[in-house]
Formats: sequence, structure tokens, C-alpha cells
Amino acid sequence: MPFSLLKFALKKDGQMPRALPTPSELKPAYDIVIIGGGGHGLATAYYLARDWGITNVAVLEKGYIGGGNTGRNTMVIRSNYLTPAGVKFYDTSVRLYQDLAQDFDMNLMLSKRAQITLAHNDAQMRTMRWRDEVSRHFGIASDLVGIDELRRLVPTMNLSDGVRFPVQGALVHHPGSIARHDAIAWGYGSGAWKRGAEIHQNTTVTGLEIDGANGGRKITGVHTDRGFIKAGQVIQCVAGMSGEVARMAGIKLPIKTFPLQAGVTQPLKRFLDPMISSAQHHVYLSQTSRGEIVVGGGSDPHPLYSTRSTLEMKEAWMVGTLELFPYLAEVKILRQWAGMTDMTPDYSPVMGKSEVKNYYLDAGWGTWGFKATPVCGKTNAELIAKDEVPELIEAFSLERFNTFSLLDDKAATAASH
Ligand SMILES: Cc1cc2nc3c(=O)[nH]c(=O)nc-3n(C[C@H](O)[C@H](O)[C@H](O)COP(=O)(O)OP(=O)(O)OC[C@H]3O[C@@H](n4cnc5c(N)ncnc54)[C@H](O)[C@@H]3O)c2cc1C
Repeated sequence: MPFSLLKFALKKDGQMPRALPTPSELKPAYDIVIIGGGGHGLATAYYLARDWGITNVAVLEKGYIGGGNTGRNTMVIRSNYLTPAGVKFYDTSVRLYQDLAQDFDMNLMLSKRAQITLAHNDAQMRTMRWRDEVSRHFGIASDLVGIDELRRLVPTMNLSDGVRFPVQGALVHHPGSIARHDAIAWGYGSGAWKRGAEIHQNTTVTGLEIDGANGGRKITGVHTDRGFIKAGQVIQCVAGMSGEVARMAGIKLPIKTFPLQAGVTQPLKRFLDPMISSAQHHVYLSQTSRGEIVVGGGSDPHPLYSTRSTLEMKEAWMVGTLELFPYLAEVKILRQWAGMTDMTPDYSPVMGKSEVKNYYLDAGWGTWGFKATPVCGKTNAELIAKDEVPELIEAFSLERFNTFSLLDDKAATAASH
């Protein structure tokens, strides 16, 4: 990167080529249309091109790439879930993250920190033990630690007895990492574009054209605010708008959309290496490479299509943060923001085929979908290319809500993201 910067700085007339040129026209037809240019949509286009040689693909994004939840999340990458299907799936993603910087030739600032989830009572200790066992079963480095070891790992945290909710122990997930989220979108976007996929920003899908009835329904094209295009296969990757977009295909998803907020403080001297999460306090935090503390908590209490941030949520995280790190009391919060998250009843995603023959789902990513970006891209691409559901995502089918085979990962998502 520095060499190319120097090269263009010294060129008289030289301007750096745009990282992601936008084609001016939509073609009348594409083999595949991807609705949503967040990490999941762009990763799908990338792996379709890279792994399957499929490039007659358009990604349609109503805003700018990564402007949705991909650019708003708190970057937690981990796989210490509760259900075996979840752990296997997220672990594949954590492993895929390792090679991305190489694949994209881009610094993603991937930083392995370990994630520490605190337990404040016996019930939480039991859940941590359970999660620890599932992780170990799949060969994921995990430890259940007591208070003395925790003191050694995070000497700056308040672990005294004289607090409202004394800490009893913790689950230490060693692969826990963070990565620069906008770089993930740009890496996948430019990688897909270089291989021939088209990425159309400022293009909103407004409707879907469907032929046939009941079990024989098939999608034929997509209406956009820039005109109609024919499509051979379509996948929706629209996060907080999942319910609305699926409705255009006549599909009802068991999803409610809630805002989720986060914030960042002024930069501080390095004092916190691992990510810390506490469901009891409903707060989680990590320190970025620039020294800022990124803080978040649970979703807003009521479903809403809004990205407004609120004082109530900020106060809630601050209470939890100060119980764990009281000396941060004078630190300033510089920014606060919100995204819209599509929450399923079992806190697991909805992926795979739908009742419309050539229409695929990548939805229900709630508060946990950033870490899944690579594995979603890879499995979505295989699903579309072969029209067969990859084994890794079989358990996440929409059908599970009819057969009552839910994948309850709520205990592993609370304020950990
Ligand atoms: C505050 C916050 C913190 C989070 N923290 C974490 C975390 O630490 N770890 C983690 O794993 N996950 C986290 N998440 C969740 C994670 O960010 C999302 O699950 C993930 O980014 C979803 O990616 P995506 O590509 O599906 O969605 P998005 O990035 O939201 O992309 C969807 C895109 O679809 C576009 N779109 C919508 N409707 C249309 C339409 N009709 N036509 C065309 N385009 C459309 C949108 O403009 C958007 O850009 C967090 C979320 C938030 C809000």
C-alpha cells in the first residue's frame, strides 16, 4: 500500500484508480442478483466468482457498501456458542478470517485478543461450563477460570467482593478477535468487482417478480428504483430489512427488527487486551488498536426501524462499565450509533432455500452476523451454485420453525455479540 501511495503522489496527472468503480448502467438481466451490499452480500459475490467462476452477478445496495450493520458493529469475532451447529459454523468463519488479509492484500487489522465472558452467579457458571465443553469438543481453545486466574488475566478489572454482582469466574475463549469492519466490506467488494461481479450502490430493490403459484413459485426478476432486471437466481442479504424484503417474495419470516446501539470513547493508553463481556451488566467492551474503548450492550427494548441512538442505552452501558472499570468515570464518549438487527426467536440465523424455488435467504443475523461474514459468503455461494444446501447450514433452515427444531443460542449471544 505505501508503495502505491508514493507512486500516485509522485505522478503529475496521477489519480489513484477508484477502489470500486460503479458501473453506470444496470444490464437487463443477470444470472444472479444479490440484494444488499453489506459484508454478507459482497462476500457471496466474491466466493461465487472465486470458487465457482460465476460472475454474471449484480449486487444491489440501496445506500453505500458497508453502510448498514457491517460498518456499525463492534467487530467481535468468536465461536464460543452453545449449540453444536452454531459452534461448528462460527468456528469455520473464525478460521476463514485468518487468511482474508492475504486474499485481499489489505490490512484488516485482525487482532486476536481472547474473549472473556464473566459469570456472576451459579446459573451463569453452569452455562459457561456448558459452552466450554462444547468448544472443547470441537477443538476450540477454551478455559473456564476462577477469580485468581481472572485477576492475572485482567489486573485492571474490579473483581472485589464489595460490588452489586461479584464475579465468580469466567469463560475464556482464546480465538476471540476483532477486525476492521469497513475493510471487510471493501475487501470483499473490490475482490468481487475485480473478478467481474457488478456492484450497484444507490440502487434499491422495490419489488420482486414471481411466476407460478403455491409450491411452484419461481422468481423471474427484480424491480428497482432504476428499473426492472431479469434474474436467474436471487438471494437476500439485507440484515435489518430481512422481514420487509422477504415479504416482497411472499415469505413470512419469524423475525422482529430491533435497534442495537454502540459507542466509542476517547483514546486511552493501552490497558485492556481481551474483550470483556458481562450478561449480568448487559455490557461488553474492547480496546481498539487506536486505544478507544468500544462499548455495547443488548438490543433496544422495543422493535423499531430506526438508527437513532438514545441516552438511556448509553447510561445503561456506562453503569455496567463503571462497575467493572470504575476508574473510567471521567472518560468521554466520542460517538454513539445504532444499527437495525433482525432477531429470530432462537437467536440463530435463517439460511438456505425458501418456498420460492430460486430465492435464497441469508437473514436473522441479529446482533451476531459480522463474525459470520466469511462463512456466509462461502456457504451462500455454494448454495446458489449447486442449488443444494451445504451441510454446514442445514440446521439453520426456515423450516426449523415448523418442525420445532429450534437452535437456542440465546445464552451465548447476550451482550457478547
Ligand atoms: C451496534 C451493533 C453491534 C454489533 N456487533 C456485532 C459484533 O460485535 N459481532 C458480530 O458478529 N455481529 C455484530 N453485529 C451484527 C452484525 O453487524 C450484522 O449481523 C452483520 O453486519 C450483518 O451483515 P449483512 O451484510 O447481512 O448486513 P448489512 O451490513 O446491514 O447489509 C445489508 C445491506 O442491505 C441493504 N438493503 C436493505 N434493504 C435493501 C433493498 N430493498 N434494496 C437494496 N439494498 C437493501 C442495506 O442498505 C445494507 O447495506 C452488530 C450490529 C450492530 C448494529
